[in-house]
Amino acid sequence: MATVLLNEEKQQILNVVKDFCKKEIAPVAMELEHADEYPHDIVEKMKELGFFGFTIPEEHGGIGLDYVTYSLVIEEITRYWMSVSGILNSHLIMAHIVEKYGTEEQKSHYLPRFATGELRGGLALSEADAGTDIQNISTKAVLQGERYVINGTKMWITNARYGNTFILAAKTDLHVTPRYKGISLFIAEKGDGFFVQKDIDKLGYKGIKTCEILFEDYEVTKGTLIGAKEGEGFKQVLGGLELGRVNVAARGVGLARASFEDSIKYTQERRTFGKPIGEHQAIQLKIAEMGTRLEAARLLTQNAAQKLQNGERSDLEAGMAKLFATEAGFKNAEEAMRIHGGYGYTKEFAVERYYRDAPLMLIGEGTNELQKIIISKSLTEKYKI
Ligand SMILES: Cc1cc2nc3c(=O)[nH]c(=O)nc-3n(C[C@H](O)[C@H](O)[C@H](O)COP(=O)(O)OP(=O)(O)OC[C@H]3O[C@@H](n4cnc5c(N)ncnc54)[C@H](O)[C@@H]3O)c2cc1C
Repeated sequence: MATVLLNEEKQQILNVVKDFCKKEIAPVAMELEHADEYPHDIVEKMKELGFFGFTIPEEHGGIGLDYVTYSLVIEEITRYWMSVSGILNSHLIMAHIVEKYGTEEQKSHYLPRFATGELRGGLALSEADAGTDIQNISTKAVLQGERYVINGTKMWITNARYGNTFILAAKTDLHVTPRYKGISLFIAEKGDGFFVQKDIDKLGYKGIKTCEILFEDYEVTKGTLIGAKEGEGFKQVLGGLELGRVNVAARGVGLARASFEDSIKYTQERRTFGKPIGEHQAIQLKIAEMGTRLEAARLLTQNAAQKLQNGERSDLEAGMAKLFATEAGFKNAEEAMRIHGGYGYTKEFAVERYYRDAPLMLIGEGTNELQKIIISKSLTEKYKI
């Protein structure tokens, strides 16, 4: 199976994560998932181990993991319970945006607190009428003296219930064209005027809360405007989503692997017509395809992570990795369900969770339809005659 050669230090970090997943996540994932309960204990242990600082540079108090190792870490966590990776992923995109575009004051104030998990949360970008079309947001930020006053409603905000800090996208100019030039990003901590309205009931991705947030005369200081410049938000979101696509691709790999590993075990245990089902050719074909899909997904994800690490432009590779790996997770989850027969459809086996979690990856960090458009444009540019 595809393995990248990690140096001793990185391998040790990965081993800590593997151990953590087996000891802390695997035994409770089913119970918490079905109770739709937030994993408070797991979060506290992740704080102690420094997981909230995985990709935050060491100079700012983080672990400073490179993106390839990080993709393996996310694969590992997702393999055991995707909801836990969701607690880290949007938090680390928030940190990535501050690191990439924040002022020196913002970096030194926020990044060490993000790394310990004292401040943690995610991204408050989407609204009821602005998902793919993020330029359509209507949340407004109006400068009054030294403070911005923000009004609007955000939808689908992961980590909003138990997180405390978010990158908030708002329009500082409602009339400018093109529309994206009116978007600015703020670092928003919970406080007066920040209301978590409700938890959205979802098909999967249980335990982790995804919420609607109302901002009503919510005030932030000028110092929270990322990069201290209005109108840069759209570019900053796109920069953050470079890491977001690697995150989501790695989650696709994690789901593809979970489905594959559970299935290959089951095909050796379950017997029909006097032999293990893995000896029936129809099942063998599925296992071959699932394993191949997993390998290809991991290689594409590592390639995209490496490009990001090198600081190279990686729209094409990240788009391909996100598209392929998440479709691999989706397809392997479906095949795992078929292989497990009736048992796969019950809550006794984890495959029903993979089957509910996988579709979200087709939607998050840019839907796969949008990825195809980005990939096609990049390819046409690359092969221009
Ligand atoms: C569980 C969950 C957690 C989430 N967490 C967060 C979060 O933490 N923070 C946050 O800001 N957002 C979050 N989101 C929102 C998520 O990013 C959006 O759902 C996603 O961007 C899609 O937007 P939409 O749902 O409005 O779909 P739409 O944009 O309405 O898309 C509907 C369909 O139209 C297609 N489509 C749209 N435009 C085009 C086009 N130009 N060309 C071709 N096809 C197109 C799409 O591909 C899709 O198939 C979350 C969503 C979910 C479900």
